[in-house]
Amino acid sequence: MNTAYNNFFRELRKGNKPGFPRFKSKHKSKQKYRTNFTNDNICVDMEAYQIKLPKLGWVRFRKSKKWADLPGRIISATINRTSSGKYLVSVLCQAKVDELPEVYSFAGYDLGLMTFAIGSNGDVIENPRYFRKEERKLARLQRQFSRKTKGSNNYLKQRAKVARQHERIANMRRDFLHQQSTRIVRENQVICLEDLRVKNLAKNRRLAKSISDAGWGMFRQMISYKAEWYGHTVVTIDKFYPSSKLCSICGETNPMLTLSVREWQCPHCKAVHNRDTNAARNILSEGLRLLSV
Ligand SMILES: [Zn+2]
Repeated sequence: MNTAYNNFFRELRKGNKPGFPRFKSKHKSKQKYRTNFTNDNICVDMEAYQIKLPKLGWVRFRKSKKWADLPGRIISATINRTSSGKYLVSVLCQAKVDELPEVYSFAGYDLGLMTFAIGSNGDVIENPRYFRKEERKLARLQRQFSRKTKGSNNYLKQRAKVARQHERIANMRRDFLHQQSTRIVRENQVICLEDLRVKNLAKNRRLAKSISDAGWGMFRQMISYKAEWYGHTVVTIDKFYPSSKLCSICGETNPMLTLSVREWQCPHCKAVHNRDTNAARNILSEGLRLLSV
């Protein structure tokens, strides 16, 4: 807040017209702060489940991972208050990651709507079914929430339930994405992905639900940074590359293809294609072509 004020008056003194300072909302903005490591101010005791933080001193915690010890030198700690009222602390460490041995397989992945993703090697990643169930539960909680009197005790309780369910779904999704991205990066030396501009696609309302569901943006980020850790390569293909319209066998285009067609026969070579597998194969060959030039 102070910085916003100071900037405001500094600009005024200079004779500029400042934008009015914006304030952070106590309720809406994310409640988090980061503190850097200096003079042993942060210290983690994995056996006693305690962490020492500046100002707070020693605090008990619950481990989210089966770390026996921290993987490296502490850089900073971030404390985050989730909307359901839990406090999370993440400790950023600098560690050396051993590169994985070279594997001689390459794969292209097409991020789909029916399935989460399909690989050129026939790898099919289904959207986990439990999301639907959890989302139905979320919808029910939200409906109940909308019927409560604003500000009442029951309103606040119900709001907490909605927040907890949101968090639960987000955690499950992140777990799923971590598992899949780690596996894909381990299995393939080169991974080719399409640059989908997730944000643009999500503007289309009908597609938006399943896309934000699918968490593609986060998935691609995970694949990229994990590939970098392990010394594997990610190639991104231009979003204008017609991956689903090309025949992966003869290379002819099939301009008649619409989003709803799941399977098609190439008018030229008569090969029958599954839409997503065909796209994944094209993504792979385009990616390898880009690598070799
Ligand atoms: Zn063909």
